[in-house]
Amino acid sequence: MKILISSCLLGEDVRYDGENSSIAYGSSFTFAQKELFMDILCENEIYSFCPEVSGGLPTPREAAEIISRTKPFIVQTKEKTDVTINFLIGAKNAFELCQSEDIKVALLKSKSPSCGNEKIYDGTFSGNLIEGQGLTAKLLIENGVVVFNENQLEKFKEFLKTS
Ligand code: SF4
Repeated sequence: MKILISSCLLGEDVRYDGENSSIAYGSSFTFAQKELFMDILCENEIYSFCPEVSGGLPTPREAAEIISRTKPFIVQTKEKTDVTINFLIGAKNAFELCQSEDIKVALLKSKSPSCGNEKIYDGTFSGNLIEGQGLTAKLLIENGVVVFNENQLEKFKEFLKTS
């Protein structure tokens, strides 16, 4: 199956701080979870994608949060630089890739203002999480792409088995 995966989860240094969120090398994942992830990589066709880089932002870059979660969306850095357009372009590019390649499932990084599928930071840069989705995850989900995050690997594997 074709799967869109957040590039940072694959170990690419595309995060805002120039680091990655590698599942394979991450200390917060058990050996069993890493094995599961490697199985998923080996058994499927993987499309690595970083919406924020695709949207034209540099790496490293200032951390950003979603200030307005309804239209018109507003995404700003802590220093109040408006990066909304970059986030929207990244989301659109992710969606277009899914459409053109017929990708129906994604594994995206949790809590990110682009990739988060369940929770995001509340826009106050104080570390508070709220229910909500990053702009890319939201657009994909609204258009029928099933999105999991890196803390849902067992559920994700189960989904792949039955799809
Ligand atoms: S935008 Fe998504 S893929 Fe890119 S660094 Fe952030 S969480 Fe990772």
